[in-house]
Amino acid sequence: MDTRVLELIPHAGGLFTLRLEKPDGFAFTPGDCVAVYGPDGKRTRPYSLAGGVGEPYLELLIRKIPGGLLSDWLSGQRVGASLCISPPFGWFRPGLPETARKIWFATGSGVAPFLSVLRSGGQTPVRFYWGVRSGLDLEGIWVPGAVPCVSRGEAGPGRSGRMTDDLQEVELEADIHYSLCGLDGMIEEVTAFLLGKGVPQERIHSEIFFTNQSPAR
Ligand SMILES: Cc1cc2nc3c(=O)[nH]c(=O)nc-3n(C[C@H](O)[C@H](O)[C@H](O)COP(=O)(O)OP(=O)(O)OC[C@H]3O[C@@H](n4cnc5c(N)ncnc54)[C@H](O)[C@@H]3O)c2cc1C
Repeated sequence: MDTRVLELIPHAGGLFTLRLEKPDGFAFTPGDCVAVYGPDGKRTRPYSLAGGVGEPYLELLIRKIPGGLLSDWLSGQRVGASLCISPPFGWFRPGLPETARKIWFATGSGVAPFLSVLRSGGQTPVRFYWGVRSGLDLEGIWVPGAVPCVSRGEAGPGRSGRMTDDLQEVELEADIHYSLCGLDGMIEEVTAFLLGKGVPQERIHSEIFFTNQSPAR
């Protein structure tokens, strides 16, 4: 599907928001991704849709990986540039079940699918942990209700330390669903903690964006 860059907003910590024209007939569910085609028109990378389903444009929240084929190239796009994306696809559904209470864990750009739920009018979670490397990552990104956990440097409006430092405070009631997105290390640690506390796998949902080998997240 052809689209066009409407806006590119760089954030201080290395994330950027890419706002794209919404192709005719494009309909998605929060948690869906699109595959974005790179400069050779062949290679793609998946990016989660961060905007609301009713918004007149599409939005992606991307971590720029210096030297990365797609993210570095996308970060240099200009307003009006043409891009090619796939139709939406995905299986991660942090907004479901609709009536269940939810706790969300995100690292870095892994906050994108949760933003999509909130911007689509979905229910606010009981708790929303967002782990970032630096307080700079918090600048200019609207993440309502999130507790930002800043692992390095000045925490600013966030709280210092890794978000997995305080897992013992996480509510464990039987009606809560847990959704996790971002770095695999966080997802493995939180999943192991929840399973160890007796939370059944059916109430733990996750999507990995980056592995521990990644230089950034
Ligand atoms: C379902 C899904 C949804 C995603 N959604 C988002 C999103 O919303 N926002 C976002 O910023 N990213 C997202 N990603 C990650 C994204 O698809 C790319 O992997 C990322 O942008 C890096 O691509 P690149 O072409 O810039 O780097 P590449 O050219 O692929 O890699 C450059 C270097 O970076 C390192 N690296 C990068 N990615 C990885 C990795 N996954 N594992 C190991 N090493 C790695 C390697 O050292 C590699 O040599 C998502 C991934 C998945 C699977």
